[in-house]
Amino acid sequence: MAKFVFVTGGVCSGLGKGITASSIALLLKAKGYKVFMQKFDPYMNVDPGTMSPIQHGEVFVTSDGCETDLDLGHYERFIDEELNYTSNITNGKIYSSVIEKERRGDYLGATIQIVPHISNEIKNKIYEAASTSNADIVITEIGGTVGDIESSVMMESLRQFRLEQGRNNTCFVHTTLIPYLYGSNELKTKPTQNSVIELRRLGIQPDILVTRAPINLGDSIKKKIALFGSIPENNIIEAKDVPNVYQIPLNFHNQNIEELILNQFELKVTKSDLKYWEDLLHTVENLQGEVEIALVGKYIELEDAYLSVKEAIKASGYKYKTKVKINWIDSEVLEKKDANLKEIFKSSQGILVPGGFGSRGIEGKILACQYAREHKIPYLGICLGMQIAVIEFARHVCKLEDASSKEFDSMCQNPIIDLMVDQKSIVNKGGTLRLGNYECKIEKNTLAYEAYKQDIILERHRHRYEFNNEYRNTLEAKGMIFSGINPESSLVEIIELPKEMHPHFIASQFHPEFKSRPTKSHPLFDSFIKASMNYKNK
Ligand code: GLN
Repeated sequence: MAKFVFVTGGVCSGLGKGITASSIALLLKAKGYKVFMQKFDPYMNVDPGTMSPIQHGEVFVTSDGCETDLDLGHYERFIDEELNYTSNITNGKIYSSVIEKERRGDYLGATIQIVPHISNEIKNKIYEAASTSNADIVITEIGGTVGDIESSVMMESLRQFRLEQGRNNTCFVHTTLIPYLYGSNELKTKPTQNSVIELRRLGIQPDILVTRAPINLGDSIKKKIALFGSIPENNIIEAKDVPNVYQIPLNFHNQNIEELILNQFELKVTKSDLKYWEDLLHTVENLQGEVEIALVGKYIELEDAYLSVKEAIKASGYKYKTKVKINWIDSEVLEKKDANLKEIFKSSQGILVPGGFGSRGIEGKILACQYAREHKIPYLGICLGMQIAVIEFARHVCKLEDASSKEFDSMCQNPIIDLMVDQKSIVNKGGTLRLGNYECKIEKNTLAYEAYKQDIILERHRHRYEFNNEYRNTLEAKGMIFSGINPESSLVEIIELPKEMHPHFIASQFHPEFKSRPTKSHPLFDSFIKASMNYKNK
């Protein structure tokens, strides 16, 4: 039977609850336990798939094809375990499943109520995460802040969960803020005290407090929080601001957080193996030189919209011990009549066009891709970035001037990007994209093969439109190489240009960023960053 850690947040959002949960999971894994993670999001969307990235940041995709909260990306990057459909639960998912059961007649005769029907459904999702993952310890993060109306049923379910499982099978970790007042130069504990009171009002007494503060707390502050929160002083963990998130697990480890949890669970405390993480931190703190990458998107006012891409770029930088600076470029700016592309891309040694939906900013991305191709600047296209690359090539090299995607131009005469047959009949927008893992067979003697050194790869997808294979011969005749193909459906997965035409031009229909880890960077990002470093040295 698994043990359960619940991570809640108080005082305000944005305290790093996701990083706290991931760090705890990493530390428990380093003690030899099999861990699994889960996030509860208290909104009514069934999943974030239909939300704008500007609302909610990127949509992270699991290997089994679930569209999830970006925190799952943090989890996978920290614990290097594949999560699944049980890992992101929303109020929308819970309510729709209860209503579906009611319509089916599963509860015949009963009045359906928040307690017990909704609360049972929530608890079942926690048990399901444990049973499908076979983990020793499941870490569940609850989104939002204690006291929110939205998350109140989730909190009620956790209260019941503790009642069912007892204190030695459940551990409540509450993260709060200790603000610092300039002028009087002091830390204030009242918001934390109130937040613990709020949690207790919901029937939950936290076992461990993780306190975010700009400076060390000092003994008297710790004593005060311990007294008012009814928490042993040892169970107050300081989460002092750090310049680098990779520091956080090590800081927690120095305060023995994993031992506190394991003791409560009556599980064996072994020696930790954290050398690989210490090495990562050492690398990150000692990066030499710099390469600059232009990331051309339309949601750039929110960097979180491209979180995994950003992390994957950085991770490949770590591999080569190089700092990577990202130049965030708004594709709509490139479309302006007086836009000076030479000036805009002057300091960048690589151009990356990431995923995206809809027609806004498309022409700017095509211009960026054309600039990269013509000026022989390393290019990496991801999903929409691959579709852009073939459209650009068809228009400017194959002279199919109106080549486009049916997504942006439903009437276009040369739909080089089109809907697959099975997508044409789909009406519902939610959860119906081509999602999750699909195989790709790689052609030998290509950039893709050089990067992966493997014939068959498995990568995660999130798209509706595809390269239209009717145009393959036309593009091949002008030099484009189709170096990755799905063996079952013949859908195009990777395209590239030969070395004679361009030093490094490659794009994939899948999203490689979801499989990159800070300790295990991704081959496509590696080859792109390496090419950009070479471009700089030339
Ligand atoms: N909008 C494109 C499609 O649906 C690309 C999607 C993406 O970049 N994730 O196919």
